[in-house]
Amino acid sequence: MQPTDDFSIFPITTRVNAAGRLSIAGHDLKSLAETYGTPLYVYDGATIRHQAERLQSLFRQYYPGEAAVAYAVKAYFSHALAVKMAEMGLGADVVSYGEIRIAQQAGFPAEGIHLHGNNKSQPELEAALAWGVQAIVVDSLDEMRYLEDLARKNQRRARIWLRITPDLRVNTHPHIETSHADSKFGLHIQNGEAAEAIRFCKNSPHFHLVGLHTHLGSQIFQAEPYRKAIEMLYEVADAEGFVPEEISPGGGWGVRYTEADGPDDAEAWVRTVSEAVAAANHQRGWKLPKVILEPGRWMVARAGVALYRVGSQKMTPNGTHIVAIDGGLADNPRVALYGAQYTARVVERPSDPPTEAMRVVGKFCESGDVLIPHILLPPVQRGELLATPAAGAYQLSMSSNYNFAARPAVVWLEEGRVEVMQCCEQPEQPGWWVYTP
Ligand SMILES: *Cc1c(COP(=O)(O)O)cnc(C)c1O
Repeated sequence: MQPTDDFSIFPITTRVNAAGRLSIAGHDLKSLAETYGTPLYVYDGATIRHQAERLQSLFRQYYPGEAAVAYAVKAYFSHALAVKMAEMGLGADVVSYGEIRIAQQAGFPAEGIHLHGNNKSQPELEAALAWGVQAIVVDSLDEMRYLEDLARKNQRRARIWLRITPDLRVNTHPHIETSHADSKFGLHIQNGEAAEAIRFCKNSPHFHLVGLHTHLGSQIFQAEPYRKAIEMLYEVADAEGFVPEEISPGGGWGVRYTEADGPDDAEAWVRTVSEAVAAANHQRGWKLPKVILEPGRWMVARAGVALYRVGSQKMTPNGTHIVAIDGGLADNPRVALYGAQYTARVVERPSDPPTEAMRVVGKFCESGDVLIPHILLPPVQRGELLATPAAGAYQLSMSSNYNFAARPAVVWLEEGRVEVMQCCEQPEQPGWWVYTP
């Protein structure tokens, strides 16, 4: 049986308060649910700052050159979050016109922005050219030629990173693995495209080729693939006589979703990346490049908690106790997409012994709308609240209006202060679902 006092996958400010209920940053979660409605997503400011500072301090400890952290905003983004991330001194890794605009309006400096994506549109590329971002990350030979043409027409010289695919396998779910030989992402080394792109970009008057990038995938807990990938980037660069000023081994470091998951501290990640880059440059007598990591999940997953209210319960003929909550697939498609595993606590009685086996399901019209297939919890009643930790990444950013569900409200918590980052969508409001010209 899991220990009931272990809140290590919850935000760092999580406590059981004097009323015996779960609280985050001193805020009683039951009161928050009453004020803002459910489902409700809460983000703990202290946890996000803790994650950002941890990476920044690990770089100071392990990397002798310049280093930066760029938040991969697809994990979760909104205007309010963007403003806070920019204030923390982070860069941003963006993949769409919408993300570019939010980052720009929130005050991120152009020098910290990378535009990624395997099929960037003309408006996306032109917005990045006009803004003068740190890097447009070229994903294919086709895109390279297209972008050169746009740069010429717009009379801009684009700062370029090349996304290199090292054709390496990493141990994660196939849907979030990006660096194997059949990946849709990047310029593959194996077929000579990486080398060809380096030659082309070095000689183009419309490009300033500054760096190489790779992204191995997501929810990775081993550092060795990063070392191997960095060595491979340096081998192609060396063969083409290109000395990178910037190196980005992407993001992807994993986080804990349940108590059974292993530790997720980023020390091994930052140390291995730092050592690998330093060694590759030392060996060649090259000047150390700036290293840029792009964590998405690791920055925000632990800070977020989803609060749901319990509704119907039933017992199936084969003895499964089903507990339905007022959210699910529409606000969190990760279970259906990747078989992601979650845990939950009863907000009103987090420390009660978990004596009942149950399946927690959502309210949406899909049998795959299961949040937790099997969990032991204290008995729960209609109207009580379940808190799901590690809900901060790839949930709301992948959420939908399936069944015309309204996307939930999102609040940011500081000690003594609650800030609404997003209101719950309102079906009664004109314009939400009726087209008003
Ligand atoms: C998605 C992505 C990231 C972030 O991945 P996480 O697993 O969330 O850290 C970083 N870089 C690129 C290019 C990505 O596509």
